Amino acid sequence: MAIHILPPQLVNQIAAGEVIERPASIVKELLENSFDAQASQVTIHIEQGGLRLIRLTDDGMGIEKDDLPLALSRHATSKISNLADLEQVTSMGFRGEALASMSSVAKLTLTSRNINHSHGWSVQSDGTEHFFDIQPAPHPKGTSVEVRDLFYNTPARRKFLKSEKTEFSHIDTLVKRMALSRFSLGFALYHQQKEVLKLTPALDQTAQEQRIAVICGAHFMDHALHLDFETTDLTLQGWISVPTFSRSQTDMQFFYVNGRLIKDKVISHAIKQAYADVLFHGRHPIFVLYLTINPREVDVNTHPAKLEIRFRDSQHVHRFLLSCIQRALANIRPSHAFSANQSSMPNAFNHQSTQTFTAGNPKPLPLPGLNAPAAIHNITTPAHFYQSLYQAAQPGPTAQLSISQLPTALETTNIKDVIPHETLPLDSPPPLGYAVAHLHGIYILAETTSGMVLVDAHAAHERITYERLKQQYALGKIASQPLLLPITIAVSELEANMLETAHAIFAMLGFELDRIAPQTLLLRAQPALLQKGNAETLVRDVLADFIEHGTSYRIEGEYHAVLVKMACHGSVRAHRILTLEEMNALLRELEQTERGGQCNHGRPTWVALSTQELDKFFLRGQ
Ligand code: ADP
Ligand code: MG
Repeated sequence: MAIHILPPQLVNQIAAGEVIERPASIVKELLENSFDAQASQVTIHIEQGGLRLIRLTDDGMGIEKDDLPLALSRHATSKISNLADLEQVTSMGFRGEALASMSSVAKLTLTSRNINHSHGWSVQSDGTEHFFDIQPAPHPKGTSVEVRDLFYNTPARRKFLKSEKTEFSHIDTLVKRMALSRFSLGFALYHQQKEVLKLTPALDQTAQEQRIAVICGAHFMDHALHLDFETTDLTLQGWISVPTFSRSQTDMQFFYVNGRLIKDKVISHAIKQAYADVLFHGRHPIFVLYLTINPREVDVNTHPAKLEIRFRDSQHVHRFLLSCIQRALANIRPSHAFSANQSSMPNAFNHQSTQTFTAGNPKPLPLPGLNAPAAIHNITTPAHFYQSLYQAAQPGPTAQLSISQLPTALETTNIKDVIPHETLPLDSPPPLGYAVAHLHGIYILAETTSGMVLVDAHAAHERITYERLKQQYALGKIASQPLLLPITIAVSELEANMLETAHAIFAMLGFELDRIAPQTLLLRAQPALLQKGNAETLVRDVLADFIEHGTSYRIEGEYHAVLVKMACHGSVRAHRILTLEEMNALLRELEQTERGGQCNHGRPTWVALSTQELDKFFLRGQ
């Protein structure tokens, strides 16, 4: 076949192949155009899942009569004019091909009334015409686009579509996702003339949270933290679920960059990493997050349907996200739950009182390591964990023992204005109260000013130990304690070889461990925090871990698995009865511990019941 120029309709149909996969893709492009036209209300009518009809009406700025044919032409846009514009796109659209593509695979009518006109004008297109017949048509200020009989002329594409019901559910999901990106807009969606969704403009935080509750479920808002972080070049706002409220799917994760819903590996990775410590494996958080960034710092021209973007400095964005979310999660403390709510689980934040983490506080965050000397002193002093817990519970200069103000050195952030962790005033009653009993060797029952609390002692201790191990590790070395009688451990040659390779890492983990014969190790000292655990099993476990995963554990994030294992070994086993002093010490430590609301496996460490709730149980005062 000789080379020849393709007819315009075919060119547009090829373009449509990339952008218009199904009816929902059309709705997306039309909504983006309404956003760009500064509309404040959009109404969408769908018939037969969008195959028969998609009609979107907005009250935006409209299109001039003479521009109507241009709007339907390929490579015609009002949004950019040169390369410099393309490098800092602020509108949703910029490719100038959505309407042209649509008209090549469906029957399209565009009707619009620009502010300068006294009535509307309309054009129709099936993608083949060279001249457009512009007709007067009644229309209020704004634009309507009607797309009928999708893929009528491309039957092969039509075959890829699912049932009308499925196609409509794609549209429904899409409209909801896009509605979360423009709180100031009202949305109405109809299927077969029946109203399916109606959202009025959400102008304050309460209204916004209501809109999110409609879309993500009211339950999410009951278990959400509100974030509001800002640095010189980035802001992050939105809502994330507390770790005890998670899903088996990633279907409730919405991330918007400058108002555009996108999927991005860097972003997913940062968020996943921030939750890694507090979520069960295979569980996923819910989030609705808005990142604002200078448009020059992102390339939106990487994907025909504009579903992906590229960050110029993705590492910077990654660090920022990781740090903000880690910070918000680390700050879930008993004190918050009580002041917010008077009662309930550590994960209970009802939406009137959604906790907000802001960056407005002028106090600078101490950079990791700045107060390291004090912290090292505090951490290495206690020779015995319970001894340290006991001291912490005594009146006097115990606040020193709190190491929670030290940002974990993992957060290698340079955020300037993030709030430091709250410390509880020494003379206020402790939020987790005072221990009354140890039930079944498992739960600590404590009386608080507003009710009662039950704490899973093992889960709580595990979290405390883990956070301390992490902090010590981040500062360079985990404090170790010599054993009165060194222990000999019989191992395989493979294990002994692994010890030699990983000797330095074992030292950093607080073990003084040497090979004294081809199949024998000698343990002289072990991590001071783990005195209660069985040292030999622990050494074997860590060795087995290194053999399985290699010694790459030093890479951030990876070695956490080892620390979790260590913490588990070193923590109070269920069924050991604790004394009141031990229990109170544990409660005080837990109040001061980052991420204290969950154990290392994502389970809650404590629950609370207020006196009001107790009164309700017993129908008192009713
Ligand atoms: P793009 O959005 O990339 O510019 P489109 O094909 O989607 O390309 O739209 C072409 C042009 O038509 C837009 O640049 C805009 O000027 C105009 N237009 C489309 N939809 C609307 C609308 N709802 N309101 C006002 N103008 C619109
Ligand atoms: Mg567009």
